[in-house]
Amino acid sequence: MQLTKRAVNVDRSPMTLGEKIYLPAIAKGLKITMGHIFKKKATVSYPEQTRPFSPVFRGLHVLNRDEQGREKCTACGLCALACPAEAITMEAAERKKGEEHLYREEKYAARYEINMLRCIFCGYCEEACPKDAVYLSETIMPSNYSRDYFIYKKEDLLITEEQMKKRAATGKG
Ligand code: SF4
Ligand code: SF4
Repeated sequence: MQLTKRAVNVDRSPMTLGEKIYLPAIAKGLKITMGHIFKKKATVSYPEQTRPFSPVFRGLHVLNRDEQGREKCTACGLCALACPAEAITMEAAERKKGEEHLYREEKYAARYEINMLRCIFCGYCEEACPKDAVYLSETIMPSNYSRDYFIYKKEDLLITEEQMKKRAATGKG
């Protein structure tokens, strides 16, 4: 008894002369190939070519700085609390005298890590942050063979000068 209606009965009747010489089948195949050869390609030559991102694409995280280059994160922990995958860990530290040019707030993240193997790129951390200190960029998460590689530390996440310029110019980055 058939469980689904998807089963197909195979035709095992002897081949005709036309089928035996295969030429009609080859001509049919070539016709289909020629029909597609001048059509617009459905594929892109990645990574040389990339498709435009969706406006809601969420990539690798970035820890933001203010216009004076100071770290914005105040290690409040709201992003870690909002994270459904428990991917974020941090350690807070008090800003010392003379460090005002490094950290915007009196408290900062001495350690900030995201486990990208856990992250589901939902963007809740970005939404939860009251300081605009973390956002998900347009950078695709690179692949790697080592699991350690996917534990992104603060040094890996902090915004670069190039990213700051792009963000200032386009609002993205
Ligand atoms: S994007 Fe989602 S899963 Fe990833 S760290 Fe942020 S809150 Fe957690
Ligand atoms: S990134 Fe934002 S939410 Fe997370 S600890 Fe820093 S300031 Fe708080």
